[in-house]
Amino acid sequence: MKNWDWQGKELKAKVLFSAKGLATQVLVSTGERLYLLDCGDGTSRDLALTNLSWAEQLVAILISHDHPDHTAGLFAVLTYLRLRGRKKELFILSPDKNLNYRLRYFRDSLFAGLPFEIEFKAVTENPQFCFSGLLVRPFATVHRERAEFFGTGGLLKAVGYVLQGRTGERIVYSGDTGWFRGIETIFKDADLALIEATFDFPKGPERHLTMKEAKELGKQAKNVIYIHR
Ligand SMILES: [Zn+2]
Repeated sequence: MKNWDWQGKELKAKVLFSAKGLATQVLVSTGERLYLLDCGDGTSRDLALTNLSWAEQLVAILISHDHPDHTAGLFAVLTYLRLRGRKKELFILSPDKNLNYRLRYFRDSLFAGLPFEIEFKAVTENPQFCFSGLLVRPFATVHRERAEFFGTGGLLKAVGYVLQGRTGERIVYSGDTGWFRGIETIFKDADLALIEATFDFPKGPERHLTMKEAKELGKQAKNVIYIHR
């Protein structure tokens, strides 16, 4: 694929699609291996348009939180991998353990099994993961719903991810988050920062970043792409 949004010495990234409330999915490549940051609606279609051999090269799907605009494409991706007869295991990381029950239901009730194993990992129980040289470190974010729609609007289990290659090259993905103390440190000297910049004006704490906050954070990184607008 030629039209990556960012290419470092080792890692590459393409924002397949990102719009608040609709879908967010970002593809990261280490050359021969692919990783998805979130998996919103239309992810399999977006992947098909890349002309990459993604059904074989995809190693892991890293979910930031359980909102449908970040997960609605997941079962469609798994269905396509099943059709392609994928054999290699697929890692799915999420801060929400309940996703594993839905994955099992999908596998056992709908399709009576899959030709590949789903290795589910609750990120809250693991400080880091290593996939063939790519180090994945989740970090907790602060993200909640609008209280007027969703009862208490309590904090969700939500994370962002730091992806670090063999050479130390680093991509930092914010997931969905409001501003929290120490957030700048996580983005400091990132080779690429993928930062949510949902709001034009503040709409309450611990929900999303404003563009102003996102730019403040973006200053920490060497390169930045603002998403979830
Ligand atoms: Zn969200």
